[in-house]
Amino acid sequence: MAEPDREPIAPAAPSAGSARRNIELAQARLRPMTRQAWQNLKIWIPFLLNRTDRARQVIYHAREQREGFVWRVQLPAQCWQCGAEAELLTREIEVDLRSFEQALAIVAGAAGSALFFMFLASLFGGKLLWVLALVSVGAGVALLLLKSWTETVCVQMSTCREHAEQMRLPGMVLDQNELHLFLPSDSLAGAARGELRATRLGRGRALPGGGRGVESDVEPPPEHVKYRQAFGAPPAPLPELPPIRLADDEE
Ligand SMILES: [Zn+2]
Repeated sequence: MAEPDREPIAPAAPSAGSARRNIELAQARLRPMTRQAWQNLKIWIPFLLNRTDRARQVIYHAREQREGFVWRVQLPAQCWQCGAEAELLTREIEVDLRSFEQALAIVAGAAGSALFFMFLASLFGGKLLWVLALVSVGAGVALLLLKSWTETVCVQMSTCREHAEQMRLPGMVLDQNELHLFLPSDSLAGAARGELRATRLGRGRALPGGGRGVESDVEPPPEHVKYRQAFGAPPAPLPELPPIRLADDEE
């Protein structure tokens, strides 16, 4: 028989650690999901968009940017943050996202019936009405999942050396054959909308990948790094930058 008060060989420590790790992992997974849900809600109910959202929102159409289930967007060749156009590095961001159909009707229907049952419950009391309110919310979520599928969004974004490490993913929402991007700066969003407008008016060159209206005298960026985030995965930091070689430095 083992002595009960003999010190265990630290079996508790790893299990507590792994439990904490599991919680952290769950939080890391949940946080982007709630952020995404909120972004989707803002697209479905545009009243929720604030002034910054509107200034930084760019809307792309499936006809122009989507092939199969893959969206390709090339953002203007300027730094995502300061707008610099020289010595750029590019980041190719690939994210799996859910695309929705008739989402507003489903959300409105679910919210409406939940509110109706809650109203009745507050008048007459009774657990059943509260349960029905919850069921309406659950049914709404189930219907949303049923009327949605996964698509991949590939966005190419540029950065200067100074701002490369702080680079953030743009907010993305897929809805009814539209891709909504919330870009990290007003100037980038303005430039992207300008390019889109020029392309649609036919003044920009015919571009296979879409939205690239930039003149060719801009030097191709020296470095290109690919970043991929799978659907529902916790966000990984953007990859570290390799050092830029300046043209004068060449030996
Ligand atoms: Zn910059």
